[in-house]
Amino acid sequence: MIDLHTHTTASDGTDTPFALVKKALAAGVTTLGITDHDSTAGWSEAVSALQPQIQLALGAEVSCLTPDGISVHMLGLLFDGDNVKMQEMLSDSRDTRLPRMRKMVALLQADGFDISLDDVYKAAPGQATIGRPHLADALVAKQIVASRDEAFTDLLHNESKYYVTHAAPTPADAIATIKSAGGVAVIAHPFASRRGQILTAETFQELVAAGLDGIEVHHRDQNETEQSVLISIARELNLVITGASDYHGTGKLNSLAENSTHPAEWEALEARANARRVVKL
Ligand code: AMP
Ligand code: ZN
Ligand code: FE
Ligand code: FE
Repeated sequence: MIDLHTHTTASDGTDTPFALVKKALAAGVTTLGITDHDSTAGWSEAVSALQPQIQLALGAEVSCLTPDGISVHMLGLLFDGDNVKMQEMLSDSRDTRLPRMRKMVALLQADGFDISLDDVYKAAPGQATIGRPHLADALVAKQIVASRDEAFTDLLHNESKYYVTHAAPTPADAIATIKSAGGVAVIAHPFASRRGQILTAETFQELVAAGLDGIEVHHRDQNETEQSVLISIARELNLVITGASDYHGTGKLNSLAENSTHPAEWEALEARANARRVVKL
């Protein structure tokens, strides 16, 4: 079973990289993609948990903004983790998340919510890329909402008055940087409309021109109709079709390997990287 999109405590997942690899093994995952938001901080711990039955496709989920301000997530897999341009893109994004979080907290405070930046830091593990899920956890700890999900539904969704974006590369820039680091670029859940405005079918062509390798089709936030439109787009543009859980531990309902990637698609994707970078024992 091939699951190419998961999160750990290096971003907003609740399992450590070590625990994630063990759980994936128990869930029958044979190829595991680890894609923390804007970070590769979990890679080395994940490698230390390797067993003969499982291999790792290390990566990151890059937060992007289109020139029209639409939020897009780009999965980079199998890139060189030491690539300076790639690491600069990721650290720029992490840096801008701090002032952004300060602004979101200030907006909530102005409306009388008893929440501080310190509460958010307390909800985030040491190396974590700070994001809305940590703010959500802080709101839960303060008993302002009952769960992460309720926090997003009521206060933190993309159309909320408390939502603030952070500086981010365009999807085309993110693809170019991932490719220059030798990796492959797969656009994550492009039709996940629950999160806000989505890309139009026409935009995919531009991303292919920038070097896009694949589309994440099988994902719980895309219904059957959306998935079949994406399959047609992928076939027409000669893109790899992936499926993944987007597992976040207890932070979301998604369970490991609930969606997966066909072995032939994975083989095609791996062949598009500039070197064999799958990590195994
Ligand atoms: P950010 O990158 O800080 O804007 O936060 C985006 C993160 O919030 C993504 O990882 C999503 O998985 C997560 N997220 C979005 N909606 C929800 C929800 N309803 N429940 C839990 N997590 C969510
Ligand atoms: Zn996340
Ligand atoms: Fe995402
Ligand atoms: Fe994700």
